[in-house]
Amino acid sequence: MTEHKALLSDLVVASRILANEGICDAFGHISVRHPENPERFFLARAVAPELVTIEDIVEFNLDGTAVCDDRKPFLERFIHGTLMAARPDVQSVVHSHSRGVIPFGITDTPIRPLLHSCGVLGHEVPIWDAGDVFGDTNLLISSNDMGNDFAVKLGDGRAALMRGHGSTVVGRSIREAVYTAIYLDVNAQLQATAMQLGTVKYLTEGEIDLIQSRLGDAKPGEGYDRTWQYWARRAGFGSDAPVP
Ligand code: MN
Repeated sequence: MTEHKALLSDLVVASRILANEGICDAFGHISVRHPENPERFFLARAVAPELVTIEDIVEFNLDGTAVCDDRKPFLERFIHGTLMAARPDVQSVVHSHSRGVIPFGITDTPIRPLLHSCGVLGHEVPIWDAGDVFGDTNLLISSNDMGNDFAVKLGDGRAALMRGHGSTVVGRSIREAVYTAIYLDVNAQLQATAMQLGTVKYLTEGEIDLIQSRLGDAKPGEGYDRTWQYWARRAGFGSDAPVP
């Protein structure tokens, strides 16, 4: 298998992982930047993440137009291209409506990392409100203008919420993006529980920085690799299992 095909296989496995872990349901998607052409990215056609196969992957320009492909794309493909255009460090983007996160997008309580595994979320998880600039909409990011506005809200962060809609995370690899999407929801669920018990002691900024540098320095089989192996197996992909 070529390097290129291996990347697309990873994108399929990532899609199945996000469905299997409850981050995506019938909705949600993950992209990866083209390894040889940073002005393009790969994303499945409009299909539920649980059902994605390698034949469903479409190549897009960063403006959301497909490269020689007229299959129905995701309406919200603009999230991926605009974030990759704004952030050269971003290699992969996950957008989902994972449920644990939703309450924090519609209240005045920000998500803050409270568990070492969630330090990857960074110092701040901002909330983008479609209504601030675009008034009444169906809340979906359905244009490059909306995507660009969301990219400003994300800034140099790892994750941002969309009010009344969902969340989006970015990663320097597919594995990092999947990890961040899963632990964003874990943090949200734990935070909602902890806040009922009393005053929450969150990670300090220094702790968050140390956790991020440790993950960044991880060797093969550690950090994002270890979680990937675990989640891939749970999603039905052993080390030898063929990717559909
Ligand atoms: Mn959405």
